Amino acid sequence: MERLDPHPVTGQPFASPVPPGSGWPGDPATATTRVARSPGGVRRLAVGSPDLATLQARISVCRACPRLVRWREDVARTGRRASFAGEPYWGRPGPSFGDPEAHTLLVGLAPAANGTNRTGRMFTGDSSGDFLWAALHRTGFAAIGTSTAAGDGQALTGLRIVAAVRCAPPDNKPTPAERATCSHWLQRDLRLGEPHLRSILCLGAIGWDGALAAATALGWAVPSPRPRFGHRAEVSLVTGGGRTVRLVGCYHVSPHNTFTGRLTPAMLDDVLRSLREG
Ligand code: SF4
Repeated sequence: MERLDPHPVTGQPFASPVPPGSGWPGDPATATTRVARSPGGVRRLAVGSPDLATLQARISVCRACPRLVRWREDVARTGRRASFAGEPYWGRPGPSFGDPEAHTLLVGLAPAANGTNRTGRMFTGDSSGDFLWAALHRTGFAAIGTSTAAGDGQALTGLRIVAAVRCAPPDNKPTPAERATCSHWLQRDLRLGEPHLRSILCLGAIGWDGALAAATALGWAVPSPRPRFGHRAEVSLVTGGGRTVRLVGCYHVSPHNTFTGRLTPAMLDDVLRSLREG
Protein backbone atom coordinates (compact mmCIF):
# COMPACT_ATOMS: atom_id res chain seq x y z
CA MET A 1 0.00 0.00 0.00
CA GLU A 2 1.19 3.53 -0.79
CA ARG A 3 2.73 5.24 2.19
CA LEU A 4 1.35 8.67 3.19
CA ASP A 5 3.14 11.13 5.49
CA PRO A 6 1.81 14.35 7.07
CA HIS A 7 2.80 17.72 5.64
CA PRO A 8 4.85 19.60 8.27
CA VAL A 9 2.59 22.69 8.21
CA THR A 10 -0.89 21.46 7.27
CA GLY A 11 -0.71 17.92 8.65
CA GLN A 12 -2.45 16.69 5.51
CA PRO A 13 -1.14 13.29 4.37
CA PHE A 14 0.69 13.14 1.04
CA ALA A 15 2.35 10.47 -1.06
CA SER A 16 5.97 10.96 -2.13
CA PRO A 17 6.46 12.22 -4.79
CA VAL A 18 3.48 14.56 -4.45
CA PRO A 19 0.85 14.12 -7.19
CA PRO A 20 0.01 17.38 -8.99
CA GLY A 21 -3.16 19.05 -7.76
CA SER A 22 -3.37 17.10 -4.52
CA GLY A 23 -3.45 20.15 -2.25
CA TRP A 24 0.23 20.67 -1.40
CA PRO A 25 0.60 24.35 -0.38
CA GLY A 26 1.72 26.41 -3.36
CA ASP A 27 1.51 23.55 -5.88
CA PRO A 28 1.08 25.43 -9.18
CA ALA A 29 -0.08 22.34 -11.13
CA THR A 30 -3.33 20.40 -11.46
CA ALA A 31 -3.96 16.87 -12.62
CA THR A 32 -4.47 18.23 -16.16
CA THR A 33 -1.28 20.33 -16.43
CA ARG A 34 0.59 19.45 -19.62
CA VAL A 35 3.75 17.38 -19.11
CA ALA A 36 6.99 17.80 -21.10
CA ARG A 37 8.65 14.42 -21.73
CA SER A 38 11.51 15.38 -24.08
CA PRO A 39 13.76 18.38 -24.83
CA GLY A 40 11.44 19.26 -27.72
CA GLY A 41 8.46 19.07 -25.37
CA VAL A 42 10.15 21.47 -22.94
CA ARG A 43 10.82 23.91 -25.76
CA ARG A 44 7.25 23.78 -27.06
CA LEU A 45 5.52 24.02 -23.68
CA ALA A 46 7.86 26.76 -22.45
CA VAL A 47 7.39 28.99 -25.50
CA GLY A 48 3.65 28.26 -25.42
CA SER A 49 3.23 29.29 -21.77
CA PRO A 50 1.28 32.56 -21.89
CA ASP A 51 1.98 33.60 -18.29
CA LEU A 52 4.14 32.80 -15.27
CA ALA A 53 1.45 30.74 -13.53
CA THR A 54 1.14 28.38 -16.51
CA LEU A 55 4.91 28.23 -16.88
CA GLN A 56 5.51 27.29 -13.23
CA ALA A 57 2.77 24.66 -13.36
CA ARG A 58 4.37 23.04 -16.43
CA ILE A 59 7.84 23.20 -14.93
CA SER A 60 6.63 21.48 -11.76
CA VAL A 61 5.50 18.35 -13.64
CA CYS A 62 8.31 18.17 -16.23
CA ARG A 63 9.74 14.70 -17.00
CA ALA A 64 12.13 15.51 -19.85
CA CYS A 65 15.42 14.34 -18.28
CA PRO A 66 15.20 10.60 -17.47
CA ARG A 67 18.24 10.52 -15.18
CA LEU A 68 16.98 13.43 -13.07
CA VAL A 69 13.40 12.18 -12.90
CA ARG A 70 14.67 8.81 -11.65
CA TRP A 71 16.95 10.44 -9.06
CA ARG A 72 14.44 12.95 -7.68
CA GLU A 73 11.75 10.26 -7.34
CA ASP A 74 14.11 7.66 -5.86
CA VAL A 75 15.15 10.16 -3.19
CA ALA A 76 11.48 11.02 -2.56
CA ARG A 77 10.48 7.37 -2.15
CA THR A 78 13.43 5.68 -0.53
CA GLY A 79 16.48 7.90 -0.19
CA ARG A 80 15.21 10.29 2.44
CA ARG A 81 17.56 11.62 5.03
CA ALA A 82 16.84 10.03 8.42
CA SER A 83 15.96 13.39 9.99
CA PHE A 84 13.11 13.82 7.48
CA ALA A 85 11.96 10.19 7.37
CA GLY A 86 8.44 11.02 8.57
CA GLU A 87 7.82 13.79 6.02
CA PRO A 88 6.43 13.61 2.51
CA TYR A 89 8.86 14.56 -0.25
CA TRP A 90 7.84 16.84 -3.11
CA GLY A 91 9.97 14.81 -5.57
CA ARG A 92 9.19 17.12 -8.52
CA PRO A 93 10.97 20.03 -10.26
CA GLY A 94 11.15 23.25 -8.25
CA PRO A 95 8.91 25.99 -9.67
CA SER A 96 9.99 29.59 -9.17
CA PHE A 97 9.05 31.27 -5.90
CA GLY A 98 8.49 34.96 -5.27
CA ASP A 99 7.07 38.18 -6.60
CA PRO A 100 5.62 37.77 -10.13
CA GLU A 101 6.46 41.44 -10.77
CA ALA A 102 9.99 41.15 -9.37
CA HIS A 103 12.66 43.65 -10.39
CA THR A 104 15.32 41.08 -9.43
CA LEU A 105 15.52 37.48 -10.56
CA LEU A 106 17.79 35.28 -8.41
CA VAL A 107 19.23 32.35 -10.39
CA GLY A 108 20.55 29.40 -8.39
CA LEU A 109 22.14 26.15 -9.54
CA ALA A 110 19.61 23.36 -8.90
CA PRO A 111 17.43 22.01 -6.07
CA ALA A 112 19.01 20.02 -3.25
CA ALA A 113 17.88 16.42 -2.82
CA ASN A 114 16.64 16.96 0.75
CA GLY A 115 15.88 20.69 0.41
CA THR A 116 13.71 21.84 -2.51
CA ASN A 117 13.16 18.23 -3.54
CA ARG A 118 11.57 17.69 -0.11
CA THR A 119 9.76 20.98 0.45
CA GLY A 120 8.81 22.01 -3.10
CA ARG A 121 10.20 25.52 -2.64
CA MET A 122 13.51 26.94 -3.85
CA PHE A 123 16.32 27.08 -1.23
CA THR A 124 13.95 25.77 1.44
CA GLY A 125 14.74 23.27 4.16
CA ASP A 126 18.55 23.13 3.98
CA SER A 127 21.54 25.07 5.30
CA SER A 128 22.08 26.96 2.02
CA GLY A 129 18.54 28.25 2.29
CA ASP A 130 18.94 29.17 5.97
CA PHE A 131 21.84 31.46 5.02
CA LEU A 132 20.04 32.98 2.04
CA TRP A 133 16.63 33.62 3.64
CA ALA A 134 18.15 35.31 6.68
CA ALA A 135 19.90 37.74 4.30
CA LEU A 136 16.78 38.25 2.18
CA HIS A 137 14.88 39.18 5.34
CA ARG A 138 17.61 41.52 6.65
CA THR A 139 17.63 43.36 3.32
CA GLY A 140 13.86 43.70 3.08
CA PHE A 141 13.04 41.18 0.35
CA ALA A 142 11.60 38.36 2.50
CA ALA A 143 8.67 38.52 4.91
CA ILE A 144 10.38 36.29 7.49
CA GLY A 145 13.97 35.21 8.10
CA THR A 146 13.45 31.48 7.61
CA SER A 147 11.97 29.23 4.96
CA THR A 148 11.24 25.77 6.27
CA ALA A 149 8.22 24.44 4.39
CA ALA A 150 5.61 25.45 1.81
CA GLY A 151 2.80 27.21 3.64
CA ASP A 152 5.04 28.64 6.41
CA GLY A 153 4.06 32.26 5.66
CA GLN A 154 7.18 33.16 3.70
CA ALA A 155 6.74 35.69 0.87
CA LEU A 156 9.07 37.77 -1.30
CA THR A 157 8.68 41.35 -2.51
CA GLY A 158 10.67 42.60 -5.50
CA LEU A 159 12.51 39.32 -6.01
CA ARG A 160 11.76 35.91 -7.52
CA ILE A 161 13.92 32.79 -7.25
CA VAL A 162 14.57 30.40 -10.15
CA ALA A 163 17.35 27.94 -10.98
CA ALA A 164 19.43 26.98 -14.00
CA VAL A 165 18.20 23.39 -13.53
CA ARG A 166 14.90 22.65 -11.78
CA CYS A 167 15.44 19.05 -10.66
CA ALA A 168 17.79 17.83 -7.94
CA PRO A 169 20.82 16.27 -9.68
CA PRO A 170 23.02 13.49 -8.23
CA ASP A 171 26.10 15.08 -6.58
CA ASN A 172 24.66 18.52 -7.47
CA LYS A 173 26.03 18.01 -10.99
CA PRO A 174 23.60 18.30 -13.89
CA THR A 175 25.01 17.22 -17.26
CA PRO A 176 25.49 19.75 -20.10
CA ALA A 177 22.55 18.15 -21.93
CA GLU A 178 20.29 18.50 -18.86
CA ARG A 179 21.33 22.14 -18.47
CA ALA A 180 20.57 22.79 -22.15
CA THR A 181 17.15 21.14 -21.91
CA CYS A 182 16.14 23.01 -18.75
CA SER A 183 17.38 26.30 -20.20
CA HIS A 184 14.14 26.58 -22.19
CA TRP A 185 12.22 27.00 -18.93
CA LEU A 186 14.67 29.67 -17.77
CA GLN A 187 14.44 31.48 -21.09
CA ARG A 188 10.68 31.70 -20.72
CA ASP A 189 11.02 32.85 -17.11
CA LEU A 190 13.29 35.67 -18.30
CA ARG A 191 11.01 36.53 -21.20
CA LEU A 192 7.84 36.69 -19.10
CA GLY A 193 9.59 38.56 -16.27
CA GLU A 194 11.30 41.08 -18.60
CA PRO A 195 8.76 43.93 -18.31
CA HIS A 196 9.65 44.41 -14.61
CA LEU A 197 13.26 43.26 -14.64
CA ARG A 198 16.19 45.44 -13.48
CA SER A 199 18.69 42.84 -12.25
CA ILE A 200 19.61 39.17 -12.41
CA LEU A 201 21.54 37.90 -9.41
CA CYS A 202 23.47 34.70 -10.15
CA LEU A 203 24.57 32.51 -7.25
CA GLY A 204 27.62 30.62 -8.50
CA ALA A 205 29.12 30.00 -11.92
CA ILE A 206 26.42 27.61 -13.13
CA GLY A 207 23.70 30.16 -12.41
CA TRP A 208 25.81 32.85 -14.14
CA ASP A 209 26.48 30.71 -17.22
CA GLY A 210 22.85 29.57 -17.32
CA ALA A 211 21.52 33.14 -17.22
CA LEU A 212 23.95 34.26 -19.94
CA ALA A 213 23.08 31.28 -22.15
CA ALA A 214 19.34 31.96 -21.73
CA ALA A 215 19.77 35.69 -22.45
CA THR A 216 21.84 34.91 -25.56
CA ALA A 217 19.24 32.40 -26.80
CA LEU A 218 16.56 35.08 -26.38
CA GLY A 219 18.57 37.44 -28.57
CA TRP A 220 19.42 39.87 -25.78
CA ALA A 221 22.60 41.91 -26.21
CA VAL A 222 25.33 40.16 -24.18
CA PRO A 223 28.94 41.42 -23.90
CA SER A 224 31.53 39.64 -26.03
CA PRO A 225 33.69 37.80 -25.16
CA ARG A 226 31.26 36.21 -22.72
CA PRO A 227 31.98 37.63 -19.24
CA ARG A 228 33.31 35.30 -16.55
CA PHE A 229 31.70 34.66 -13.21
CA GLY A 230 33.13 36.22 -10.06
CA HIS A 231 31.83 37.53 -6.76
CA ARG A 232 30.54 41.06 -7.50
CA ALA A 233 31.22 40.60 -11.23
CA GLU A 234 28.72 42.77 -13.06
CA VAL A 235 27.79 43.42 -16.69
CA SER A 236 24.84 45.00 -18.49
CA LEU A 237 22.51 43.11 -20.78
CA VAL A 238 19.97 44.68 -23.09
CA THR A 239 16.70 42.79 -23.52
CA GLY A 240 14.71 42.37 -26.72
CA GLY A 241 12.40 45.08 -25.40
CA GLY A 242 15.34 47.49 -24.98
CA ARG A 243 15.61 47.31 -21.18
CA THR A 244 19.06 47.42 -19.62
CA VAL A 245 19.40 44.66 -17.01
CA ARG A 246 22.28 44.25 -14.55
CA LEU A 247 23.77 40.75 -14.37
CA VAL A 248 25.46 40.40 -10.98
CA GLY A 249 27.55 37.48 -9.68
CA CYS A 250 27.69 36.30 -6.07
CA TYR A 251 29.34 33.27 -4.50
CA HIS A 252 26.83 30.48 -3.98
CA VAL A 253 25.30 30.13 -0.51
CA SER A 254 26.44 26.48 -0.25
CA PRO A 255 28.00 25.29 3.02
CA HIS A 256 31.30 24.95 1.13
CA ASN A 257 31.37 28.77 0.86
CA THR A 258 29.49 29.87 3.99
CA PHE A 259 31.12 27.50 6.49
CA THR A 260 34.58 28.53 5.30
CA GLY A 261 33.92 32.28 5.36
CA ARG A 262 34.36 32.64 1.60
CA LEU A 263 30.86 34.14 1.62
CA THR A 264 29.88 35.98 4.80
CA PRO A 265 26.48 37.40 5.76
CA ALA A 266 27.89 40.94 5.29
CA MET A 267 29.07 40.12 1.76
CA LEU A 268 25.66 38.75 0.77
CA ASP A 269 23.84 41.66 2.41
CA ASP A 270 26.00 44.10 0.41
CA VAL A 271 25.06 42.45 -2.88
CA LEU A 272 21.36 42.30 -2.02
CA ARG A 273 21.26 45.94 -0.86
CA SER A 274 22.88 47.05 -4.12
CA LEU A 275 20.02 45.33 -5.96
CA ARG A 276 17.33 46.99 -3.86
CA GLU A 277 18.81 50.38 -4.54
CA GLY A 278 19.82 49.88 -8.14
FE1 SF4 B 1 12.50 19.10 -16.82
FE2 SF4 B 1 14.44 20.76 -16.11
FE3 SF4 B 1 13.84 18.68 -14.56
FE4 SF4 B 1 15.02 18.29 -16.93
S1 SF4 B 1 15.90 19.36 -15.15
S2 SF4 B 1 13.27 17.12 -16.07
S3 SF4 B 1 14.08 19.95 -18.16
S4 SF4 B 1 12.53 20.45 -15.02
